[in-house]
Amino acid sequence: MSNQIPIATPVRTAAIVNRYFVHAKKNLGQNFLVDLDAVQGIVEAAGIEPGDQVIEIGPGIGSLTEQLLLAGGKVFAYEVDDSLPEILYNELPQKIAGEALADRFKIVLKDVLKANFAEDLAGFFDPAKPVKVVANLPYYITTPIIFNLIESDLNFASLTLMMQKEVAERLAAEPGSKAYGPLTIAVQTQMRVDLALEVDHRSFMPAPKVDSAVVVLTPLKEDERADVGDRKHFNWVVKMCFSQRRKTLNNNLKNLLPDKGQRDQLFTDLDLDPKTRPEQLPIATFIKINEEISRLSK
Ligand code: SAM
Repeated sequence: MSNQIPIATPVRTAAIVNRYFVHAKKNLGQNFLVDLDAVQGIVEAAGIEPGDQVIEIGPGIGSLTEQLLLAGGKVFAYEVDDSLPEILYNELPQKIAGEALADRFKIVLKDVLKANFAEDLAGFFDPAKPVKVVANLPYYITTPIIFNLIESDLNFASLTLMMQKEVAERLAAEPGSKAYGPLTIAVQTQMRVDLALEVDHRSFMPAPKVDSAVVVLTPLKEDERADVGDRKHFNWVVKMCFSQRRKTLNNNLKNLLPDKGQRDQLFTDLDLDPKTRPEQLPIATFIKINEEISRLSK
């Protein structure tokens, strides 16, 4: 059944919750958006235009999905809660700009961390066209989802993601700050980071305890992007460099380069103080550390 009142409103959400006996599942990070302005802010930040191919992670009861569809998006959604597809197929508009819902929306019950994008999207999306990922993320797995997306071969135009503000700060962090770390470096070597909007906790039902922000990540052009070699390997080396962030770089490098002579060689070659802490180093230095480790451990 469809309705004129958007799903992203307290009144319509309450009606759906009552009709289907929905209980927001805390363990799945279910905080449904009930603020139409916030939802439209996300859709605008993602720049959704008619014909855009959109992957949504965790559609919930459809607050964001509905607005993505109305803006012209063709939406493929990953969800793990098996009570939701029935609600979505009933409550989303059955016709959008003359097209049937089934032609514009598909949901798969699958953990997005186990997604095989090429396989999952085949037959629904045109593989030659880039996709936009848009999500009000399940906060308990924000970081693994971001790593998974940016390490995947998915051809994406942008990622527009709502997350806890603290993680958004990590994405945009500068060296020397507390928020700077492996996530910052993995993202900033590949993507431009733009903070689009902050969202009040009262915009959700139930309201989360943390503040939220929407970040747009856009792939850097080939000539703007640093060459980090194999991305997954680079990200792993950076994680190892930060494994004990209060300790010195020398301490953190012990697992990667157990031989002291080789570590000394690295510090000399890169003109680095072994006592530096990882969070003080700019991204360019991690790229050099990664290259040097590959060279020395051959
Ligand atoms: N998009 C809806 C909204 O904005 O109101 C719901 C967002 S809610 C914060 C997160 C959604 O992600 C929930 O629907 C939850 O069931 C789903 N989810 C949780 N873990 C997931 C996973 N591993 N893969 C896919 N979806 C997941």
